[in-house]
Amino acid sequence: MNYNYHTHTARCRHASGTERGYIEKALAAGITKIGFSEHIPLEFADGHDTAHRLPVAEETLYFDTLRALREEYRDRAEILIGYEVEYYPLYFKEQLRRARELGAEYLILGQHYIRNEEFYEVSTYALSDSVEDLICYTDTVIEAMKTGLFTYVAHPDVFSFTGDAAIYDREMRRICETATELNVPLEINFYGIRSGRRYPEERFWKIAGKCGSPVTFGFDAHDEAGAADLASLPRAMELVEKYNLNYIGAPKIIYL
Ligand SMILES: [Zn+2]
Ligand SMILES: [Zn+2]
Repeated sequence: MNYNYHTHTARCRHASGTERGYIEKALAAGITKIGFSEHIPLEFADGHDTAHRLPVAEETLYFDTLRALREEYRDRAEILIGYEVEYYPLYFKEQLRRARELGAEYLILGQHYIRNEEFYEVSTYALSDSVEDLICYTDTVIEAMKTGLFTYVAHPDVFSFTGDAAIYDREMRRICETATELNVPLEINFYGIRSGRRYPEERFWKIAGKCGSPVTFGFDAHDEAGAADLASLPRAMELVEKYNLNYIGAPKIIYL
């Protein structure tokens, strides 16, 4: 494994380290294809900002810093600069316009919340038995994949559904079938592995295996060590073998 397109920076305010530190750690581990995918800025309609994303005030700095480093490391690494995005119909168009204006090169989908995040949140950590929310999550991820703009779906198995297993299977199958049909890779998320989260969720990957969905890996680095997380690779490979996953290696980048 010599690639990782899921890297954050301290600018999102829940990660640590320096951009240079991430690159150095990655290179030392043989990761030469490095993609930065900071949480995209989001200003809500009422003007309030969120505390867990790149602040609007720092977006130019994010690109300038990484462009300078890309130049400096050009002989040793292929660095891409993009964003991780929740698909919110209310905001996506404007976020995309701004991302392109700033020169963002690619997007990954990380659907940590649903319904434009305004009235109700389904977070990564929440257990939920709401069928309505599960379906909303599924519909949102599918709609996002259909835009054709996402290089891959990060932790597609983020939704921790505690209700009827048959309903979970039915909904996740819709995501996996769409991923197969549109050839959008699904990410086994190494952050989940190294920090013992509920994902990677085996019942999801079992379905992905049956559907033949393309599968890729991402470190989801939130600190410098995370940019070199080959320690989680054996567990990811174990899932690939156990569920006969269609592991494609590095994703094909969808350039914005
Ligand atoms: Zn994050
Ligand atoms: Zn991420």
